[in-house]
Amino acid sequence: TTRKLIVGNWKMNGSLAANAALVQAIGQGLERAGAAVTVAVAPPSVYLAQVGGLLAAGEEEAGQCRATVALAAQDVSAAPSGAYTGDIAAAMLRELGVRYVIVGHSERRKYQGESNAVIAAKAAQAQAAGLTPIACLGETLEERDAGRALAVVQEQLQAVLEHEGVNGAALVVAYEPVWAIGTGRTASPEQAQEVHAALRAQLAAALGESAARHVAILYGGSMNAGNAAELLAKADIDGGLIGGAALKAPDFLEIIACAQ
Ligand code: 13P
Repeated sequence: TTRKLIVGNWKMNGSLAANAALVQAIGQGLERAGAAVTVAVAPPSVYLAQVGGLLAAGEEEAGQCRATVALAAQDVSAAPSGAYTGDIAAAMLRELGVRYVIVGHSERRKYQGESNAVIAAKAAQAQAAGLTPIACLGETLEERDAGRALAVVQEQLQAVLEHEGVNGAALVVAYEPVWAIGTGRTASPEQAQEVHAALRAQLAAALGESAARHVAILYGGSMNAGNAAELLAKADIDGGLIGGAALKAPDFLEIIACAQ
């Protein structure tokens, strides 16, 4: 893929006031940056309607002169509807203008005990509702030190690719080594590229070379304005999934500029 994809994962941060300020600052910055990159932000689900409204209003004001910012969600239910208290269905997200949904973030694997099977079912639900799932994969430090990084991420990806109803060609994949998330410790561009290349090969085996080339594989884990350019320069790094640095407009905008 040529056009990079930069997604801000706000995690459980923000407020009505902080979101409004952040969206405004991103919109103003993008007017200068141009439109050669796809940008999305993933606020907490209670703020999707607010942020979706702000993005639509900002777009109308700015007209064609800048990149639009897509709306993303941080999670989705593995079921289509029904008695699942607290869950949010993919169709509901779609109704709010959501385009992407993160599934399988390592924080959900860890704190909510989400399995590869549940995550794959979430990806299928997302696609059934017309959303693009961003499937997160990543090894822990123990797994890396044991030489199992590639095996772990390939097993995580395979579970998604093999799940009934999942179209692998309509996925976004995000490689987020757990040891690099929120730690200030990034995978080196070479370490990340090695994993991305392995994931690309796995996608090619499942989907064919051409379809695999069109699946965006994002890197996530302490990506910031200082390291984004060298990561994004790697052949199989098609964008970034940004946590902490996505909460500060200047940092987020600088990462977007690195992706142009
Ligand atoms: P940080 O950028 O804060 O390390 O978070 C990465 C991440 O988990 C994005 O989903």
